[in-house]
Parts: sequence; C-alpha cells; structure tokens
Amino acid sequence: MRKIGILGGTFNPPHIGHLIMASEVREALELEEVRLMPTAIPPHKQLPDTATPIQRLAMTELAVQGNGYLSSCDEEVHFGGVSYTFLTMQRLLAKEPDTEFYFIIGGDMVDTLHTWYKIDELLKMVRFVGVQRPGALRKTDFPIAYVDTPLIDVSSTLLRTKYAAHKTTAYLVPESVDGYIRQEGLYGTC
Ligand code: ATP
Repeated sequence: MRKIGILGGTFNPPHIGHLIMASEVREALELEEVRLMPTAIPPHKQLPDTATPIQRLAMTELAVQGNGYLSSCDEEVHFGGVSYTFLTMQRLLAKEPDTEFYFIIGGDMVDTLHTWYKIDELLKMVRFVGVQRPGALRKTDFPIAYVDTPLIDVSSTLLRTKYAAHKTTAYLVPESVDGYIRQEGLYGTC
C-alpha cells in the first residue's frame, strides 16, 4: 500500500504554515508524499472574491516546487463546484485503490469535523491527522491521530491583510508565490 498525505485547503494564498505542516507530517508518518489540494468552492468558508480557483492552484504548484516530497493536486479545482472531501476522496480512492490516504487538518478544522459531509463514512475511507494551530482548540471525539509540529502563527487571512496594506510578507510565503501574487495583482497589490 502506498501512504499518501492530502492537505486540503483554500490556499488563498499558500504560506509557510501549510508547507511546514505538510513536510513535518510526511516525515513523522513516513508518507511517500503529501499533496496540497486546493478546493474549488469550499463548503465551510466564505471565500473573499480575490483569487480564482485556478490562481489558487497555480500558487499551490509554485509553493511545492523544489520539494520532492510535496506536490499539488488539481482534483477539486478541475472537478469544480462545492468541494466535499467525502466525494473527492471517493474519486481519489477509485483512481488509486492501493493507497492509504492521510487527510491532514489544522487544529481549527479539528473541532469542525462533526459538520463535514458524511464524516462517519469519510473516517472509514481515510485516516485523519491533526496538527496544532496557535489559538485553535483541537477537541473531537472522532478517532484522529495527532502529529506534533512547530507552531506557526501564520494564516492566509494575515497575508491578504498584509498585501492589501503593502506590508512586508518576506519569509511568510515562498518567493515564487509572492512573485505570482504581485504579477497577477492579487490581494490589492496592484
Ligand atoms: P484563511 O486564513 O483564509 O482562513 P488558512 O490560513 O486557514 O486560511 P487554509 O488553506 O484554509 O489556510 O488551510 C488549509 C489547512 O491548513 C486547514 O486544515 C488549516 O487548519 C491548516 N492550516 C493553515 N495554516 C496553518 C497553520 N499556520 N498551522 C496549522 N495548520 C494550518
């Protein structure tokens, strides 16, 4: 069986918090790779109308460049519509049946799990892995594993605010992602 991690998110934009958690979980659980998978339309989040799904996917591709253990996954963006993890993972398992998928979530997502579409079925299909996030509780009765990673107090919201205010974002996003944001004029950079 292949062991593959999936880090789902909006990646609006991707930042060092995402990359560090993906890299740490990959190593701790000896996963073959971790795929960063941007949603099309997220079921649980109001997305600010700033970057399109294609732009979020492009930034995710740039973010993982140069790390052989990380990749990006276009499954949800290309499928389109509201991205329900249960349906996405059904499709991925149908394509790659000899795979154990590890679905990685931050502490803020852990205590929302009871609201996820078909969570009981989803828990039978994938293993959930939680990591701590500053300021977030991680309480759940669901059987999920935890991996200790460095606490990184960075969010996409913080980055969008910094870009809009023309404040420095150095070291918080990969340079390639930063270049793309400025080239596309995202988040008020133009
Ligand atoms: P936003 O600020 O726009 O809500 P975000 O920074 O939470 O975005 P997402 O792309 O929505 O980023 O997050 C994808 C996944 O990564 C979620 O499970 C989230 O909990 C987790 N995550 C994001 N940033 C961190 C972080 N700094 N530490 C731990 N987990 C994180």
